[in-house]
Amino acid sequence: MRASTPLFNRLALIGAGLIGSSIARAARAQGAVRSIAVTARTAATRRRAAELGLADQVAETNAAAVEGADLVIVCIPVGQCGAVAEEIGPHLQAGAIVSDVGSVKGAVLRDMAPHLPAGVHFVAAHPVAGTEYSGPDAGFAELFVNRWCILTPPANADPSAVERLAAFWRLLGANVETMTAEHHDLVLAITSHLPHLIAYTIVGTADELSQVTRSEVLQFSAGGFRDFTRIAASDPTMWRDVFLANKDAVLEMLGRFNEDVAALTRAIHRGDGEALFNHFTRTRAIRKGIVAIGQDSPAPDFGRPHPGLPHEPLPRPYAGEE
Ligand code: NAP
Repeated sequence: MRASTPLFNRLALIGAGLIGSSIARAARAQGAVRSIAVTARTAATRRRAAELGLADQVAETNAAAVEGADLVIVCIPVGQCGAVAEEIGPHLQAGAIVSDVGSVKGAVLRDMAPHLPAGVHFVAAHPVAGTEYSGPDAGFAELFVNRWCILTPPANADPSAVERLAAFWRLLGANVETMTAEHHDLVLAITSHLPHLIAYTIVGTADELSQVTRSEVLQFSAGGFRDFTRIAASDPTMWRDVFLANKDAVLEMLGRFNEDVAALTRAIHRGDGEALFNHFTRTRAIRKGIVAIGQDSPAPDFGRPHPGLPHEPLPRPYAGEE
């Protein structure tokens, strides 16, 4: 439902990619703010943001974008957050809320907080919603609907600022949860960062195989590989920064993962069908749980809309075998 009165007067978005442009579209659609200023690193993205009409003002610099804003959301790769906080710090309006959308929270808090002046409320956040696409054209207003937005305010944060930011995200359709940055980074290491690392690994491994040709990998990708390729198409800059910034939690989860891979490897070696069956039964229940809480569609094939799928002949060697 649209807001009867805007929650903020002026929203400044630093970064106009998938997340920044989705916030701009959703905030406008929901009447969440009176006006929006947006900026980006390159002139090309700023031009595209203007062409798309994402904001009332496309600012040339980060400093100019935040002038007069009572809500500033930094929507850039996490490795850039410290430098940008330093840049915008002196230009922030007293009482403004400063937030971000980074996929890692501990490093962002560490890098941004020292540059933000007293009298500004810093409330870090991570909307757990995305796609493998980047840039201003990739965004859409519904991206956050029924997705979680995790707020990780510093210990001394003003509760009313936290609540105002939570209300903003709820208006964009998100469910809001609050936790410490440290806990966030551990949770996301297993639910997001490790799966991306596995996808990046397996797609690379398949590409290097000599016994199986690249065209066979592409042709038979529906056997599971295709869904890894979608994740492994995610933005290289963003994900490089995520692994550098969440090093400790990712290494901890990777250690556990390697132990579990070793256990399954042993089960295959031994021909221990019961161990494999029991493991797969447990993981199937997790999938059912995710569908049950509405975080994915129960439709087969990862919820892809079937009517639009092209009716291509079955790939060899199955086609025409009967
Ligand atoms: P994106 O589509 O690649 O967009 C990044 C934007 O940041 C671009 O507009 C870029 O401008 C701008 N930018 C980079 N450095 C900048 C700087 N120093 N000053 C001003 N603007 C700068 O990335 P995204 O997917 O929106 O991701 C942004 C953030 O959201 C990341 O921290 C990521 O961890 C987080 N996140 C992403 C997802 C996801 O699925 N993608 C989900 C949740 C959270 P140019 O185009 O001019 O370079």
